[in-house]
Amino acid sequence: MLDLLIKNANLPDGRTGVDIAVSDGTFQDIAPAIDAQSQKTIDASGRLVSPPFVDPHFHMDATLSLGQPRLNRSGTLLEGIALWGELKPLLTREAVVERALRYCDLAVSRGLLSIRSHVDVCDERLLAVDALIEVREKVAPYIDLQLVAFPQDGLFRSPDAEQNLLRALDKGVDIVGGIPHFERTMLEGAASVQRLCEIATERGLPVDMHCDETDDPLSRHIETLAAETVRLGLQGRVAGSHLTSMHSMDNYYVSKLIPLIAEAEIHAIPNPLINITLQGRHDTYPKRRGLTRVPEMLAAGINVALGQDCCMDPWYSMGSADMLEVAHMAVHVAQMTSIEAMKQAFDAVTVNSARAMGLDDYGIEKGKPATCVLLQARDPVEAIRLKANRLAVLRNGEIIAQAEPQVSTLNLAGRPDTVDPAGYAPVENPPGKTL
Ligand SMILES: [Zn+2]
Repeated sequence: MLDLLIKNANLPDGRTGVDIAVSDGTFQDIAPAIDAQSQKTIDASGRLVSPPFVDPHFHMDATLSLGQPRLNRSGTLLEGIALWGELKPLLTREAVVERALRYCDLAVSRGLLSIRSHVDVCDERLLAVDALIEVREKVAPYIDLQLVAFPQDGLFRSPDAEQNLLRALDKGVDIVGGIPHFERTMLEGAASVQRLCEIATERGLPVDMHCDETDDPLSRHIETLAAETVRLGLQGRVAGSHLTSMHSMDNYYVSKLIPLIAEAEIHAIPNPLINITLQGRHDTYPKRRGLTRVPEMLAAGINVALGQDCCMDPWYSMGSADMLEVAHMAVHVAQMTSIEAMKQAFDAVTVNSARAMGLDDYGIEKGKPATCVLLQARDPVEAIRLKANRLAVLRNGEIIAQAEPQVSTLNLAGRPDTVDPAGYAPVENPPGKTL
């Protein structure tokens, strides 16, 4: 007797009409027409069952603080930075914990079950570090939360930043962060990359840096990050977040840089919602998009994982814990509109992000934890287009969130009674059929 049987599901790899058998919290079988008794059955009716969404770049210490102490009226990065500076001394551990837990509730409802959050360590009290370590424990039954020690005000630029970063790592923060483009000079930025990679090597930890989050074509800390990764043998354990300067770099230089990033096996983590919003602000017209070179990096075999970065915080008033919104923005801004590229955008918020976070046990495969999301969409492209409703979210075989299908009723003479937004998927006609 199975615990749960999901009938007639589509999978992101293109398989259709499969059944998924779940027992003891794990996937027992994935195959067409499984004939077995089950305590509970879900009829997926040809809808998509995906592994959960994964956000490899977030700031949970600031999320949902929008309005505290006041709204960002101009909507600019500068006002956002000023607001965070006003808010930081007023933060309490309880308030940070409560906002983070509320955000995680929203994340679960969106099928977002793994998050890597940077946490600002430029604070003597390390209040946000303690708060998010508490949150990491509290949400562990339903969200994998990884924490990055992020010297937000600069490793060398902010007094005691290195000491506070080391204290945060001593407390159990998982990953070494950095922000080389915010150091005083290019040389100090490069030195910070070197120092932080050495700290990670000494402690056996991964690295994830905010790297070149600027429109300056000469901001080339990703080159140093790749070189240090190779020098210290950290291949596969290092992520470069944002990499927006690559948008503006000289093409000849990039033709050398991309193979270097691939050689170092660096995970690239662009954040399309934030990059399109914050970059190009010094431009008049034409305005640069600022997003890094996603299709080019994918073509070179680099693991590209997309992050959300912010949700209703001093820097960004939008956001909704929806990784399909992130993929949707990438499709547009990076012009990833081929069928293959749209599927890659879906992978970039699921499997690629799981790889960047080093999640073992991820994916819909026999023997793995039965953790997945049933979407009100037929396939990954439709899921991105609709930012599809999450009908059921499973964690280790338990349904931890559910939603009714979104269907509107219509009151129009001669037209149908209801409209299902997921009923409009295109059908390619066989050759010769009249249209
Ligand atoms: Zn960030």
